[in-house]
Amino acid sequence: MADAKEKVLAQLRALRAQYAAELPNKLQQLRSIATRLNLQWDDELFRTLHRQTHSLTGSGATFGYADLSHAARDLELLLKTILESGVGSQHPGIKQIDGLLAKLERAGKIPASSTATAEPAIFQPRTQRHSIDPDKRLIFVVDDDTNIAHEQCLQYELHGYKVREFHEFSGLQAAIKKDQPLAIIMDVVFPEGDLAGIEKIIEIRQSNTDFPPVIFVSQREDLEARLASVRAGTAAYITKPIDLSNMIETLDRLTTVDLGAPYRILIIDDDASMAYHNALMLQRAGMETEVITEPGRLLDVLPVFQPELILMDLYLPGCTGIELAAVIRQHEAYVGTPIVFFSVETDISKHLAAMRAGGDDFLIKPIAPDHLLATVESRVQRARTITSFMIRDSLTGLLNHTAIEEQLERELGLQQRHDGVLSYALIDLDHFKQVNDHYGHAAGDKVIRGLSRLLRQRFRQTDLLGRYGGEEFVVVLPASDATLAARLLEEVRNDFSRIQFTAADKAFTVSFSAGIASAPPYNSAFTLQEEADRALYRAKQAGRNQILIAKSH
Ligand code: GH3
Ligand code: MG
Ligand code: MG
Repeated sequence: MADAKEKVLAQLRALRAQYAAELPNKLQQLRSIATRLNLQWDDELFRTLHRQTHSLTGSGATFGYADLSHAARDLELLLKTILESGVGSQHPGIKQIDGLLAKLERAGKIPASSTATAEPAIFQPRTQRHSIDPDKRLIFVVDDDTNIAHEQCLQYELHGYKVREFHEFSGLQAAIKKDQPLAIIMDVVFPEGDLAGIEKIIEIRQSNTDFPPVIFVSQREDLEARLASVRAGTAAYITKPIDLSNMIETLDRLTTVDLGAPYRILIIDDDASMAYHNALMLQRAGMETEVITEPGRLLDVLPVFQPELILMDLYLPGCTGIELAAVIRQHEAYVGTPIVFFSVETDISKHLAAMRAGGDDFLIKPIAPDHLLATVESRVQRARTITSFMIRDSLTGLLNHTAIEEQLERELGLQQRHDGVLSYALIDLDHFKQVNDHYGHAAGDKVIRGLSRLLRQRFRQTDLLGRYGGEEFVVVLPASDATLAARLLEEVRNDFSRIQFTAADKAFTVSFSAGIASAPPYNSAFTLQEEADRALYRAKQAGRNQILIAKSH
């Protein structure tokens, strides 16, 4: 993490140095264009002068030249007025160009201030693995009923938690501070009082800023107890007798640091130094970025990178950002993708036009890094919440059929671009119809959730997990060949087949079979699925409870 931060900082410094080195040349170009215009008027040349001044307005302050930005803005406004008047060299403002240009040149000589680019204080890479090291999944259980507590703790340990039991409050506060459990399961009623558990948490919490989530458990179902728990900032309230699956799911949810995949941000700006600067700022906050400096590349990049947010300059060569936004919106897949425009434009009517074309926000250059980050984060976060309802299966939280297909296409694109490998595994529960018939549909659902939990625990964050509906699951493993994928799945198969499920006091186990195909040699989503399905069929024929790899591997 420290390395990544250093690397990005070094790149930022390099960008600044490059900007400083190129600045005299840029100013000289402006001067020479102005001189040529003085000798002979040319509309096209005048537009170039405007465009280059415009670009300095946006980039100057970003790279430490605040005065340069101001001076460029004054000149830019004048040039724009002349441009829009349509009278060219007849415009009275022409005489002021020289003076403003001289001011701009002077501003360019003031050395860059090193603090002007306020670097964002935040650096939280989102690329961490999302399940915590099993040794560290420590939770505390506080209950005065020693038998119940002990019984519970055994169950939690079977599900991969390390548990410490407390039967009274003494020592609890010190232990929380010292060992920092991921969650606390707290009884409500103690000999000290009918709400003693809740009161104790409120008390301890006051002197601890970094407090773990608390799950209250109680026989009490009344509003008073629940309200008290809410006031204590509770994470969940579960009534006794404790439903184990419910508790495990709650614990999983609370103790898994699901930072999610890094945000994918596409930056479209013809000013390359600005574009890369913004990209680095976002990378510092752990996001993935892709930069386009020529709008012509847009349609190639979109399907491969699949941005979650697009940051776009309003002025681009060959077309405007507004037009480009309209083009993006023509694609069904990007109808909901947030588009944030940025420009030195302060004209409100231009903002409105941008919004009408489907823009979601408007940032004025130069953009303070913290402002940029806050805008991007909140937009992507919201977009993710909305899409998660559309792409997640409600029973398991895994990707649904459509979503996994889309993600598979994306991963295949990346794999082919980088000459990598990718594996695709199709999993199907064995004799699942019988499970439903014998133990009931609700028990069947528990099995489905149990397998999805195990898959989530065992696979990397970069692997994609989906449910094809029914009792079929998909795992897409980027950067894994068929042998590796088979080995990973084999471990999961082995463990899953030994998990005890219960329904109406009857215990049972369930197994699954899987087929695996990889790219290469199967380089399309269709052939991967077809070959994995065939391998799965063979696994079923061969007696189930096994993993087979597609034949030509
Ligand atoms: P095989 O080993 O050949 O795969 O046998 P199977 O019984 O698992 O296969 P089959 O495709 O005949 O039956 C699948 C069953 O899965 C039928 C259906 O009742 C059950 N099922 C599908 N979706 C769900 C679900 O969401 N919940 C539950 N409880 N059962 C489901
Ligand atoms: Mg089945
Ligand atoms: Mg089936």
